[in-house]
Amino acid sequence: MSVGTSIDRFLLTVSTFSRELNTARKLNEVFSAINNVLKRFFEISSTALAIKKADIWEMDFSESDFPISKEDLHTYIDLSSERKAHSFYPIEEGILLILPSLKSGQLLTVFFALIPQDEEEIRQEYDSILNFISFFSGIVIENLQLYHEVVDQSAMQEALKKYFLTILDSIDEAIMVWNKDLELSFVNQSYRQMDPPESVLDILKEIVQQTFEQKSGIPTEKEIDQAFYSINSVWMEAEQEVLIRMEDITRTKELERLKRIDQMKTEFISNISHELRTPLAAVKAYSETINDSLDSMDTDTLREFMGTVLEQSSHLEFLLDQLLDFSKLESHSLQMELHVQPLKPLLNQLSNTFKMEESKGVRFSLEAPSDEMQVEIDAKRMTQVFNNIVQNAIKYRNPDHETVDIQVAVTADEQTVTISFADNGIGIPEDSLSKIFDKFYRVDSSLTYSVDGTGLGLTICKEIVEGHQGRMWVESVLGEGSTFFVQIPLKVDNNHGDGTSEDT
Ligand code: ADP
Repeated sequence: MSVGTSIDRFLLTVSTFSRELNTARKLNEVFSAINNVLKRFFEISSTALAIKKADIWEMDFSESDFPISKEDLHTYIDLSSERKAHSFYPIEEGILLILPSLKSGQLLTVFFALIPQDEEEIRQEYDSILNFISFFSGIVIENLQLYHEVVDQSAMQEALKKYFLTILDSIDEAIMVWNKDLELSFVNQSYRQMDPPESVLDILKEIVQQTFEQKSGIPTEKEIDQAFYSINSVWMEAEQEVLIRMEDITRTKELERLKRIDQMKTEFISNISHELRTPLAAVKAYSETINDSLDSMDTDTLREFMGTVLEQSSHLEFLLDQLLDFSKLESHSLQMELHVQPLKPLLNQLSNTFKMEESKGVRFSLEAPSDEMQVEIDAKRMTQVFNNIVQNAIKYRNPDHETVDIQVAVTADEQTVTISFADNGIGIPEDSLSKIFDKFYRVDSSLTYSVDGTGLGLTICKEIVEGHQGRMWVESVLGEGSTFFVQIPLKVDNNHGDGTSEDT
């Protein structure tokens, strides 16, 4: 292709240069385009490059024998900054072309080319071409720099995301984020491993819903399908989402429970030793006295002493029976001998026993059931339950009341009979109501501790009642009294009225 006028030459150069720059993705491609275009006009023996990075000029030499040192190049950069245009400087080796890439009058890079020619040969007409290169390369370099910044930034964001994901995935807690449509927008590795069942997801959704409504986080513990979870929700105001941290704490709970039982066992051993020692000491002391002074003792004193020995031996027997029952209960060998029989005689017998305690301030009243009401029970065991409940009512009497009032009533429906024992004792705090049937549990109060006990009575009672396919529960108001309920199946169809008759 023949090049005619200098205008033609200019246009051709510009279009070739533009084409090359259009495809440039890296800075060195821009400089090679500059180099190529300059070679159309000049013979170039070596080049150098200065790039401004964060206000510092970095030098890059294409050939190691570039005749000007880095320090000297700085001087030329300063000159170029002042001129804000290209310039030629005659040096010993030829002519140094200094070609800045400019953007809004600012130097982005400076291209140095050593031209081993005479200055006279460098014609005026190159000025416009060199100005164009300065201006156009400036735009391209700035765009490239911006482009790389964006690429770097998104790469950094990616790296940051990966960094946080690795942290979140290494956490043992399941972490998830819910949006307002109650859909999951993020879950971590532990969540995926846990793969919560529907029952857990339903509870989580309830908590998420509540967090959305309250616009604040909720810490809670939930028991779901025999597993325990610690769940903490966090309200994410900016994102309008809810983050949940969830941990399966079943094992921790189990450990806590075992620790509690262990502690209770220790307390129990010290309790039971004390419980056994008291009657044993009495039996021993009274027997010794009787033995030492049998000859001198009058009959009344002897009878009184022997009475105490008998009473304390019975108490010892009761404690040993309780221990034996408990060990049977633990080994699941507490057997019931069930027989169909009327309920009334059993309760009458109970009434007779405790009516004898009137002198001790016990007022026992019974609303006896009808003669026909039949139940299938182990009479000895059921009597043990009734006795234990009534004895507790006496043990945990309210010191502010002169008498212990115990009212026993019977109600029945088509299938069951419920015997209730209401007392006017010290009552049971609300948070202990669900625990008093637990083994070794005793209410933590000075009133309870002033009374001896093992914390096993009600555990055994409940087990016996459940052995009758029945259930046992309590209602109580602290300071006012308690009502214990024993519900067992009715045996035959003998539903006459409410099934009760007054017995005094
Ligand atoms: P013990 O009486 O040997 O401690 P129980 O298992 O019979 O064991 O009772 C457990 C606990 O329940 C008692 O220690 C007491 O704190 C509480 N309790 C039982 N019955 C009553 C009652 N009628 N009134 C108040 N507290 C009671």
